[in-house]
Amino acid sequence: MKVAKFGGSSVADGIQLAKLKDIIKKDPDIKYIVVSAPGKRFDKDSKLTDLLYACKVHIENNLPYDQLFQAIKDRFNAINLSLDTGLDLEDDYNYIIKKIENGCSEDYLASRGEYLNAKVVAEYLGYDFVDAKEFIRFDERGELLEEETNKLLGEELAKHETAVIPGFYGTGPDGKIRTFSRGGSDVTGSLVARAVGADMYENWTDVSGFLVADPKIVDNPKPIGHITYTELRELSYMGASVLHEDAIYPVRAAGIPITIKNTNKPEDPGTVISAGVHEEHKERIVTGIAGTKDFTVIAIKKTRLKSDRGFLRKLAGILENFDIVLEHMPSSVDTVSLIVARDEVDGRIDKVVEELERQLQPDSIEVHESLALITTVGEGMVYRKGVSALLFKSLAEADVNIRIIDQGSSEYNIIVGVDNEDMDKAIRALYDAFITE
Ligand code: ASP
Repeated sequence: MKVAKFGGSSVADGIQLAKLKDIIKKDPDIKYIVVSAPGKRFDKDSKLTDLLYACKVHIENNLPYDQLFQAIKDRFNAINLSLDTGLDLEDDYNYIIKKIENGCSEDYLASRGEYLNAKVVAEYLGYDFVDAKEFIRFDERGELLEEETNKLLGEELAKHETAVIPGFYGTGPDGKIRTFSRGGSDVTGSLVARAVGADMYENWTDVSGFLVADPKIVDNPKPIGHITYTELRELSYMGASVLHEDAIYPVRAAGIPITIKNTNKPEDPGTVISAGVHEEHKERIVTGIAGTKDFTVIAIKKTRLKSDRGFLRKLAGILENFDIVLEHMPSSVDTVSLIVARDEVDGRIDKVVEELERQLQPDSIEVHESLALITTVGEGMVYRKGVSALLFKSLAEADVNIRIIDQGSSEYNIIVGVDNEDMDKAIRALYDAFITE
């Protein structure tokens, strides 16, 4: 049995929904469907969720929002008309307007795209509509209550042979709607898959899975057939995002694989994400290569740093006080380098350095900007010798100066830091070195 989640572009209009129906009809194993709100139909189009957020901004600034709301209604009415569902959403629209007039929350309004769309899709497929509101629970801080959700969802869905569930939202302890962060319908899909004990969580989108490298950098990169959860974490952290990063946790815990599939090319195999190392991993060394620009390095030098026992505690305290997320911290006998995303220290780097100088009394502190981090990921690396030799040789031959090297002892990735302007060249060199066939 499968759970299928369809993202915004897969449910953008009647044409896309007809493809969805086709997919469902061809695969009777798909019993539960999670939908996003209608996304973009073409490049300059607006996502329905963005229209809803815009509505809220208008209301807060005492600007008329009726035209925006009309655009929202028009999208759903057009879908209903083209699919001939016969569904009348007028009561729902009026109820939402009443809630707006009474000062509803941003989360409530944003969630209505998924709510209305799930109703439409349920009607179109003849499936039950199950509102996520009752069964997906958040605490007062907006953190997902995963175990409670799993129990409630599981009990409810057991009563429905087939159902459509709106993605992206649930309720807080006060009974009010709370949403996940953007793209959160992926998380709903994962929760549903876990709750019903699915054999597979299919995530339908507008790409045929993951590619070994960013196609904007590498020409025609190879698709990835199988990737482990761990590899995906390493790659998505570096910006290769197709799936919401929290979506893997519920299914990973339950041992359910995810397949990324393309609604516009359903025959493409897509990418399977699962826990175990696949045969493919033994044949290939590298699963994916990803890079992110704009990191800042704060290099701290202090003689006999190692014997200064409180050093790391003080350092951690400073970072915590500034609320800075630390990406990496390579160190040597007398130096430690802090690598942070530029956004983390933008506009306050002088203050951070001042505080580090005051508390740590270093010999020197240097700040280097514009560092790009590139991660070369592959669980297959463990089986090989000479991986780093090939990696460094290929970068040297491409005339790339490596400024930072970081490899965890788990040996499934090697991270190098290079100048921003060398990033694309470096990724191409790594691709050519590791991806042979
Ligand atoms: N519609 C929401 C968004 O645009 C949630 C989702 O699509 O996953 O972020």
